[in-house]
Amino acid sequence: MSSLRKDWDTYFMDIAYMVSTRSRCPRRHVGTVLVQGKKLLGTAYNGAPMGTPDCSEDGCLIVEELVPSSTDNGGMVKKQRCIRTIHAEQNLLLFTDRVDREGSVVYVTDEPCWTCANMLANSGIVEIVYHRDYPKDHEKVTTLMKQRGIRFKKIEPYTAPADTQVQDGA
Ligand SMILES: [Zn+2]
Ligand SMILES: [Zn+2]
Repeated sequence: MSSLRKDWDTYFMDIAYMVSTRSRCPRRHVGTVLVQGKKLLGTAYNGAPMGTPDCSEDGCLIVEELVPSSTDNGGMVKKQRCIRTIHAEQNLLLFTDRVDREGSVVYVTDEPCWTCANMLANSGIVEIVYHRDYPKDHEKVTTLMKQRGIRFKKIEPYTAPADTQVQDGA
């Protein structure tokens, strides 16, 4: 049996998935890594601020919001979202230095939401590679990345390592 050597995108996305398993929010596990050249500079996942109860201890902190319906054009639907956690991408920015980020690549298990994308766009990184889609903000985020000249791509084909994926309850 010859073992096929993994390409770099797969290698770093696998690490992002491993990192995501640290998340204690049952609704969504997101992992992300910062890579400069081929070097790993940082890892982060979505989680409550240090020293505060996480979702597994105090439950999710749920807010309800109205979002445009994907089926009923012009209609709105209620959606629940956990706001206890700091998003993985934002944690990554909190724990890495600007100088390290200049020219680097972010691998993230999930397509960034608008707020994270907006912050990443101003963070010095030059490329984002994601796996799972987040349709709600896809159009806005794609346009932003184009304007900013940041390469933005979904990794495919790709299969996450076994036992690293949670069902999305959101
Ligand atoms: Zn939660
Ligand atoms: Zn986000």
